Amino acid sequence: MAIVLGIESTAHTFGVGIVRDGKILSNKRDMYTTESGGIIPMDSAKHHREVSSKVYSEAVLESGIDEKRIDAIAFSQGPGLPPCLLEGIKFAKKLSKKLGKPLVPVNHCVAHLEIGKLTGAKDPVLLYCSGANTQVISYASGKYRVFGETLDTGVGNFIDNFARYAGIGFPGGPKIEKLALQGKEYIELPYTVKGMDVAFSGILTNLKQKIESGKYKIEDLSYSMQETVFAMLVETAERALAHIGKKDLVLGGGVACNSRLQEMSKIMCKERNAKFFCPERSLLVDNGAMIAYLGEIMFNSGISFLGKKAEEMDIKPRERTDEVEVKWRK
Ligand code: AMP
Ligand code: MG
Repeated sequence: MAIVLGIESTAHTFGVGIVRDGKILSNKRDMYTTESGGIIPMDSAKHHREVSSKVYSEAVLESGIDEKRIDAIAFSQGPGLPPCLLEGIKFAKKLSKKLGKPLVPVNHCVAHLEIGKLTGAKDPVLLYCSGANTQVISYASGKYRVFGETLDTGVGNFIDNFARYAGIGFPGGPKIEKLALQGKEYIELPYTVKGMDVAFSGILTNLKQKIESGKYKIEDLSYSMQETVFAMLVETAERALAHIGKKDLVLGGGVACNSRLQEMSKIMCKERNAKFFCPERSLLVDNGAMIAYLGEIMFNSGISFLGKKAEEMDIKPRERTDEVEVKWRK
């Protein structure tokens, strides 16, 4: 029905994807990285500025379509880091002007949920586990609602912090996953679930003390950390499924690339007769295709801004999913 281009720029990734009739034609990205970890927002924004034209050209080339055939330009409006979001919206506005096509503002978290439908999920609960975000989200009574979330840091940032303390480079997640495979002994750690919310700062302090004591192997600590923290996440997702009476679970975010988290989620779903969906890696992490995918659905329902209205659009760095006005579904 439409060809929509999506731009992602909320944090470290600048991505461009193109979707036609719900099918992904291309999905290109370039990620800002640092030696020691941690995003410096202004540097990440500079990265986005420098790679945007290249990533755009690659995405158009891969899609095999002429840019003139693009019907609308979707972009991540929020939540995210303001300097990074600004680069995305600037690029989107420039393109909108050049092609004479409207803008479609997309909420990044909702896009993580909706892309799960491409893998077959119908009306899922999203367990969103990224660097800065940790949320359990689902659509209910006219809005995408946050049923549970972290009370302090995102799970990815927590894992990276633990890794940094253990002298492991950034990003810590994939390296910790490998170390955890060699862990043999389960070491008890604080387990912090409050209803459908989770918290990590107490566990981090405890882990730091254990590293300092020199009594534990990092492999065992990595293994125990994963078992504990992923059990917390899966527990909140299960409670949300039960609470809202939904049958599909979708994973999203960089931490969801972890095989053990996937396995534990799968087991939980099986036990309660729910279906488990895990998008492929390129769609789990931040990417332009998911923005284009939701952008097309929104565009087809009549949401688009052209000319002066497009020029006046702004970023929404702190937008929450339940603030999103949902006009495209019942
Ligand atoms: P995102 O913010 O969604 O891009 O995700 C980035 C976060 O995912 C970082 O904190 C990474 O350490 C984490 N991450 C990536 N791969 C893995 C993995 N295999 N296991 C655990 N965490 C991971
Ligand atoms: Mg994300």
